[in-house]
Amino acid sequence: MTQCCRAFLASFKIWNVATIGGNLVNSLPAGPMISLTAALGGVCELWTPAGGRRQLPVAEFVTGAGRNVLGEGELLRSVTLPDSALRARTAFRRASLHRHGRSAALLIGRAGPVEGSLTLTLTAATVRPVVLCFPLPPGAAGLRRAVETAVPEGAWFDDLHGLPQWRRHMTLRLAEEIRQELRDAPAPGKEAAACG
Ligand SMILES: Cc1cc2nc3c(=O)[nH]c(=O)nc-3n(C[C@H](O)[C@H](O)[C@H](O)COP(=O)(O)OP(=O)(O)OC[C@H]3O[C@@H](n4cnc5c(N)ncnc54)[C@H](O)[C@@H]3O)c2cc1C
Repeated sequence: MTQCCRAFLASFKIWNVATIGGNLVNSLPAGPMISLTAALGGVCELWTPAGGRRQLPVAEFVTGAGRNVLGEGELLRSVTLPDSALRARTAFRRASLHRHGRSAALLIGRAGPVEGSLTLTLTAATVRPVVLCFPLPPGAAGLRRAVETAVPEGAWFDDLHGLPQWRRHMTLRLAEEIRQELRDAPAPGKEAAACG
């Protein structure tokens, strides 16, 4: 949580007043609250002007750079994080062109609940969160293949905070670091699905 809060481009105003809902609704690729809640399997509840409610995963809420599924007049009422994800062992990696710069790649890995399983969430380098689920421990080559398949050439985000080729390179490198860090994580529980 702290690492994601600090991932905001340096500004005490943003650190002190920005809301989780506002960050999700802004739907910028570098939205660290999107990274956090998508990586923890968060579920959004949306309220419609007609009084209806609908729920969907954070990873499906953001549809592109600055785009999301909110309809006219709809409100993002809450984001619920599953208890199992909050207890899970996680690993965080972030790349930026400079120390307090906007995130160019932000990855979060979550181990368990089955021993060796891994949920890896890619953000900032991609226009929307990409969640990869590995029920069995992935090898380095399998992980790399999964990332390259999920984010093909041409799909990496491109703006002044980083070239797409560099974002891809950093994402692959940081994904491998996360795989190694979580490889020997103990299974935290058995009640949730690997991608829950
Ligand atoms: C110096 C600076 C640095 C920044 N760095 C970053 C950064 O690193 N990463 C990043 O992602 N953004 C960054 N931003 C952009 C922005 O400040 C953040 O995205 C912030 O998290 C937005 O949250 P907020 O609560 O201020 O949203 P607001 O600005 O209050 O709202 C954003 C939009 O969402 C709507 N909205 C807010 N809450 C809801 C809700 N619950 N339901 C429906 N609609 C809602 C608002 O009406 C508005 O249209 C930065 C901005 C500045 C000025």
